[in-house]
Amino acid sequence: MPIVPVRAAIYLRVSLDHTGEGLAVERQREDCLQIAESRGWSVVEIYTDNSVSAFSKVKIRPEYDRMVEDYRAGRFNALVTWDLDRLTRQPRQLEDWIDAAESQGLRLVTANGEADLQTDGGRMYARIKAAVARAEMERKGARQSRAHIQRAAKGRPPRGVRATGYTLDGEIVPTEADAVREIFNAFANGSSLRAIAAALSGVTPVVRPIGDKTMVQDLPQSVPVLPTRSGRPWNPSTITDMLRNPRYAGWSMLDGAIVRDAAGTPVRGQWDPIVPDGVWLEVQRRLDDPARKSNRVGTERRHLGSGLYMCGICNALVRAHNDRYRCAGHLMRSRAQIDDMVLKYVRGRLAKPDLADLLVQQDDERIASIADQLQKERDRIVRARADYKSELIDGNFYKEIRSEAEAEIGRLEAERIDLAVGTAVSAILTAPSPVDAFNKSDDLAARRTVINLLCEVRLLPAPRGRKAFDPRTVRIKPK
Ligand SMILES: [Zn+2]
Repeated sequence: MPIVPVRAAIYLRVSLDHTGEGLAVERQREDCLQIAESRGWSVVEIYTDNSVSAFSKVKIRPEYDRMVEDYRAGRFNALVTWDLDRLTRQPRQLEDWIDAAESQGLRLVTANGEADLQTDGGRMYARIKAAVARAEMERKGARQSRAHIQRAAKGRPPRGVRATGYTLDGEIVPTEADAVREIFNAFANGSSLRAIAAALSGVTPVVRPIGDKTMVQDLPQSVPVLPTRSGRPWNPSTITDMLRNPRYAGWSMLDGAIVRDAAGTPVRGQWDPIVPDGVWLEVQRRLDDPARKSNRVGTERRHLGSGLYMCGICNALVRAHNDRYRCAGHLMRSRAQIDDMVLKYVRGRLAKPDLADLLVQQDDERIASIADQLQKERDRIVRARADYKSELIDGNFYKEIRSEAEAEIGRLEAERIDLAVGTAVSAILTAPSPVDAFNKSDDLAARRTVINLLCEVRLLPAPRGRKAFDPRTVRIKPK
């Protein structure tokens, strides 16, 4: 059987919306050329369209049409494209290509590795993908473009979305930036989302029940009155959106998530941060604390010791179960008297003058050294990948190095967050009267952290047949 030389065509498409992004098409071209080269195919023609979308039937794609003509004329027998979306989103056109692959032996591969139309699986995948892509386009309009992703990867400000505190170009808007900073500080120091929303709106304090008593919620004094840009009132969810935004700590983001480079390093944005890393991380920790979420609704009971106190039999953390603490199979204890006892101990401890020793200092030196170590681990991954690519090490060894480095990265990132935790608690510990500050705090997470800082609490099962609370069944060990 004669060997038929493979003559490959490359099809590239770039959207007009992103003509500023010359890299987009360059990147596609590079990736596609590499595919052809690695398979030993000779490239006979590169077709490039600057069309708005592969979706619309009426949009003219002259190079696409020329490519179809050339294929019919037998000029090539292989086609490389960056992804199927770029080739076409018309199920009928795609069927033509699938047909060509099936019955005429056209080789069609995508540079992103998603489809190889030589195989049954690849063809089925392509058909499903075309149908899904079409449905998605009809629902949502234009999808995330590669240009958009590239902007984020380079740390450039997202297009068309202005965040409070920044101009569209990523310049600081001083008055807004001050307000943003105060919002982060207030939340990190224990203010609730509702209190912050009230302060921004300039309304009077909210009265709501705290545990058994009703108290007036303190508004964070430093948060200025600031109109929203949408004209709608401030509410906990708009503030959460702001607090979750990594742009404020100077990290590049896409779809609300921090962009990371190939080695997993967060990409720095090319704009000035408004809040320091430590404050941003502390805010994320508070937002993630499940105890804080249950605290949002005033009527809901708050659980001081769930996931904090330990079972005296097995040392597992106890869970809240209605108005009790429970360790399955070991104990079930009423919460109220236990919490009272723990709070009494903590207040007594806070009243002693040696508190300064307990202050959690932001250890800047350690934070800096963690950053260094993180970079080293990430460099290890990059080097291992390069070594693997140039066949200096095999796949298993590469995986081993990678998972080792990733485990270390996880440990370091956890330590960094732990170090940042000081912010919320220091508000209580550095107050003129820590006891008052602790009593007044409506921040369950900060109270729990203070307890955790001062003591270990172990619960024993209640003795049988006794109705009265026995303090000996609660073991509080100073730390
Ligand atoms: Zn237990």
